[in-house]
Amino acid sequence: MPPPLQTELNPLDPGFLQAIVDGEARLSPEQGLELYHRLPPQELGRWADLRCQRIHGDSIRTYVIDRNINYTNVCTAKCIFCAFKRSGTEDDAYVLEYDALLEKVGELAEIGGTQILMQGGMNPDLDLDWYLELLQRIRSEYPQVHVHAFSPPEFVEFVRFFDPPGSDFKAKVRYVMTRLMEAGLDSVPGGGGEIFAPLVRARIGMGKCDADAWLTVMRVAHELGMNTSATMMFGHIEGVADRIHHMEQVRSWQDRTIDDLQESGGGRYSAFIAWPFQPDNTALGRLKEWGNGPGDDLETPYPGDVVARVDGTGDGKDHPEFGRRLRLAGASAYLRTQALSRLYLDNVYSIGSSWVTMGPHIGQLALRWGANDMGSVMMEENVVSSAGTTHCLNEPMICRLIRDAGFVPAQRDNAYDLLKIHDGADAPDLVVEDWSRYRADSLHTEQPEVGCSGGEKTTPATVQLTIDKKT
Ligand code: SF4
Repeated sequence: MPPPLQTELNPLDPGFLQAIVDGEARLSPEQGLELYHRLPPQELGRWADLRCQRIHGDSIRTYVIDRNINYTNVCTAKCIFCAFKRSGTEDDAYVLEYDALLEKVGELAEIGGTQILMQGGMNPDLDLDWYLELLQRIRSEYPQVHVHAFSPPEFVEFVRFFDPPGSDFKAKVRYVMTRLMEAGLDSVPGGGGEIFAPLVRARIGMGKCDADAWLTVMRVAHELGMNTSATMMFGHIEGVADRIHHMEQVRSWQDRTIDDLQESGGGRYSAFIAWPFQPDNTALGRLKEWGNGPGDDLETPYPGDVVARVDGTGDGKDHPEFGRRLRLAGASAYLRTQALSRLYLDNVYSIGSSWVTMGPHIGQLALRWGANDMGSVMMEENVVSSAGTTHCLNEPMICRLIRDAGFVPAQRDNAYDLLKIHDGADAPDLVVEDWSRYRADSLHTEQPEVGCSGGEKTTPATVQLTIDKKT
């Protein structure tokens, strides 16, 4: 049973916040909005840290070694925040050959990596058999590698491209997903979540599925027994209430999923990762930023906040500048949003830090603002780096960041089980003698021998109180 809502209580009351930390109360959307705006940021972070410690203990924080493989950059959608997609006719459009793709998986396996995160554009030229053969070859050659692949928008387009059997959309998704699972798909990443509020989503994600379709695909994955992650991309045209509406969608679908599927061994959302929009090389990034002058200064309500409603019913007519001004998220907005997600999502096991977009040191700080996982030591990332964000971390560096934040670093797998707890002198960070070779690189480079940058991230831990990670 989820903890009870107590909407009459003041969310700033320390007693109420302690009940949330203890898993004995839950935030309403309105209380969440009030917390975000009225609780001093450091207090919000402290309560989120306490909640994180109640779920995950206070000693270990984790990371995963994986590789982000973008099998094609050809895409039918026209998301205005995307710098990665190409039409099929552009010179630099690509589809990775099987052999090239398998070589990447092999390089990952060689350095002890445990999973690939494989996503693409939505490419109409690839048929179901192409995906099945790819998965079968990965499973046959690298059975130890977990395949975390194909986000909900890709499944929505698979249904359109393949016209599979099924009486309705959900049945068609189930058909395709079952075939892919039989061939080697292990879990579904939460890419393409963006912002669920229809008004914002329609403006920034043209050609991409709506929230209902996204959530339905994930529901099918859970019914088929797979765990998934959920994501949110914020810091563009949305209001804070839109972020809370997004979290509420994840929480309420998760409630139903746990209620319906717990006994039959179904899956669930095991992680939530929120990251700020990266503006470089994108159409959305060319909008004028809010806060530049009279009438749109930082004291004036931001158009996205004027329009947004926590129930997702915002109306663009409420502000003439809605959708025309950007409010990028800096470190403070990022950390506050992440902290709120830890307090709000009382039924999601893991909160991932987004060092890929925020940089290693804000990513490290995020471990004290509700995140329990540093996400991926990634060997490769193409999507976020296309939008200008090029942070890069290797395993010694990510371990050092976790240790310097006051925790023991541990490598995990996709199920959030711990593989190696680095509490001895042979830890990747403790054997380094010359840190100048291992500093976080500010340039995006692909370095198979040490690993590099990331995109979608995830998380694990050791102690559980009210949230079951569900394996
Ligand atoms: S974000 Fe994804 S779905 Fe949207 S255009 Fe880019 S590749 Fe396509």
